[in-house]
Amino acid sequence: MHCDLHTHSTASDGMTTPTALADLAAKTGLGAVALTDHDTTEGLPACAARCEQVNVRFVPGIEISADPDLHRDGPSKGDDSPPWGTLHILGLFVRHDAPALLHIRERMRRARNERNPAIVDRLRDLGIDITYAQVEALAAAQGTQVIGRPHIGEVLVVGGHAASMADAFQRYLGQRGAAYVRRDRLAARDAIDGIHHAGGLAVLAHPVQLGVKDPVRLEAFVRQLVDLGMDGLETRHSDHDPTVVRELETMAQRLGLLTSGGSDFHGSRKPVALGAQGVSMAVYQRLLEHWQQLHGP
Ligand code: AMP
Ligand code: ZN
Ligand code: FE
Ligand code: FE
Repeated sequence: MHCDLHTHSTASDGMTTPTALADLAAKTGLGAVALTDHDTTEGLPACAARCEQVNVRFVPGIEISADPDLHRDGPSKGDDSPPWGTLHILGLFVRHDAPALLHIRERMRRARNERNPAIVDRLRDLGIDITYAQVEALAAAQGTQVIGRPHIGEVLVVGGHAASMADAFQRYLGQRGAAYVRRDRLAARDAIDGIHHAGGLAVLAHPVQLGVKDPVRLEAFVRQLVDLGMDGLETRHSDHDPTVVRELETMAQRLGLLTSGGSDFHGSRKPVALGAQGVSMAVYQRLLEHWQQLHGP
């Protein structure tokens, strides 16, 4: 039996409601599922309730976007410094109503809501005739609580301004895109502390997305996160090929880290199936046991 410990719902940029996600987990035959929406825990109570009904073990989670520059203090407004890509930190077994996470949710919602119209302004400067009202209407129709770049991307695709979501990110929305606008980001330390305050385990999500190719540099970076309190490493992920998985498993062993894994399911928004990584239930069991040792059964 398998588990999937990295998924998104309509509470962020997934296309499946939290309830439907639980149903799909049962239908897929999963033993456990974690809901890890971007910067919000709003979907957790509904998903937890349905998981209980359909007999799937539920892991309340979150995926927090953090600043990959670990040495920048406070809200960062500067340029992205290559080679850093994306730093996402998963919180597993978090309390959905923890004040620390509600605070992070509000700060990140504000950050996206300030940035999103600025992206549309840049697109309009580039001669692309879309409006922010279109983005809001699309997001509302999908029932999402967190409007982000994927919704702008969909408006671009629907309007024929980009061939695909990948094309929209490459040409316009990604870090090297023509309409990229940086947003306020959380310091990694604050993301990890917030997860710990909510009673959760902090796991580095999809390490390949950091964009650090050199294995020695990658491990040095992960060590810095361990110094900040990181508990585990996501070794299995849809972006990791078998070689990467093996390298990450041995790195986790060397650093004494827990391991996790999941699909990063987003419903129809991404070509990734729920449970696709075939993560063993033993991974879930080890995380659960570690968490129970910290917080009691
Ligand atoms: P935001 O948090 O609003 O900046 O949007 C980031 C989200 O966009 C990520 O969580 C991904 O789901 C999605 N995303 C980022 N890069 C790409 C890409 N190259 N292609 C498709 N989706 C992407
Ligand atoms: Zn996403
Ligand atoms: Fe992510
Ligand atoms: Fe994700």
